[in-house]
Amino acid sequence: MGHLSFEFFPPRQAEGLERLVATARRLQPLQPDYVSVTFGAGGSTQEGTLATAQRLRQDTGLAVAPHLSCVGLDAQTVLELLQRYREIGLCQLVVIRGDRPSGVAESGPFQHAVDMVRFVRRHTGDAFAMQVAAYPDIHPEAAGATSDLTHLAHKVRAGADGIITQYFYNADAYFRLRDDIRRMGITVPVVPGIMPITNAEQLLRFSARCGAEIPRWLALRLKDLESEPAGLRAFGLEVVTSLCQRLLDGGAPGLHIYTLNQAGPALALGAALGLTGRGAGSLEEAAGGAAATGASPPSW
Ligand SMILES: Cc1cc2nc3c(=O)[nH]c(=O)nc-3n(C[C@H](O)[C@H](O)[C@H](O)COP(=O)(O)OP(=O)(O)OC[C@H]3O[C@@H](n4cnc5c(N)ncnc54)[C@H](O)[C@@H]3O)c2cc1C
Repeated sequence: MGHLSFEFFPPRQAEGLERLVATARRLQPLQPDYVSVTFGAGGSTQEGTLATAQRLRQDTGLAVAPHLSCVGLDAQTVLELLQRYREIGLCQLVVIRGDRPSGVAESGPFQHAVDMVRFVRRHTGDAFAMQVAAYPDIHPEAAGATSDLTHLAHKVRAGADGIITQYFYNADAYFRLRDDIRRMGITVPVVPGIMPITNAEQLLRFSARCGAEIPRWLALRLKDLESEPAGLRAFGLEVVTSLCQRLLDGGAPGLHIYTLNQAGPALALGAALGLTGRGAGSLEEAAGGAAATGASPPSW
């Protein structure tokens, strides 16, 4: 397989950061190209993102890509943050708009992710490789599918080096997005974002908020398994493994895995996909790790 990356969110407590470093170490044998650290809306975890990225970089030596959100940041704050990232040796970013708390009016110089991509390029040249977000199931606020694609193309033309998708469970939606954006002359990698399935209630709730579609057949089967955590995890692993296999067979350049700060599900997926060549542990070990439950939802 080509590209592999793992997404984390900044833990709220100091002990959480220790656990996250341990999680990253468990995932390290899979040799990710980088790990990314989300950025809370409203700049609420600006310090958390920086501290988490710094700690992961220092303690694991992994390449770290902090996410940079537009919401609540002014130009000076962004410049200072970018300077700090350069000082600690980071050269990759995931640039996203973020979501305003409902009822909060738009303000600030960065209205859309494209504004931030342009700003980072203008002020830091080629110092950072930038990834931007795309939505196989279409962004919930988009005026339409075509306008969502047009805005995605603008982000790349403004200087993004790659695209990571929101998670989805319909491979055809990914292939259509990739093929449509190719037809618009955009050639950067479109890496599918993959959400392992470990907790039905949480997945259904979060998906309703972010516009990721859970197909009816999947939602109903997950509901049936709600009281059987082991059965649900086994079923979820089977579904997500076959999704990933289909994506990779269809030419996806790799995978970006939303870990929810848990190593087990990502290790189990790596083992099921036969990523042992990258140094993954045994399926038994991975499945044991996947037994850990209670992952928190993403900070965004
Ligand atoms: C890989 C990934 C990582 C994420 N990481 C985080 C994170 O760390 N923190 C966080 O808070 N959220 C994160 N999110 C969620 C993201 O912030 C939300 O999905 C947000 O609603 C949109 O972000 P965007 O970068 O796609 O926005 P944009 O590209 O700005 O698009 C948002 C909406 O506006 C439209 N649009 C875009 N440009 C324009 C324009 N110029 N004029 C008019 N309309 C436009 C688009 O069609 C879309 O409907 C992530 C999402 C993904 C897929």
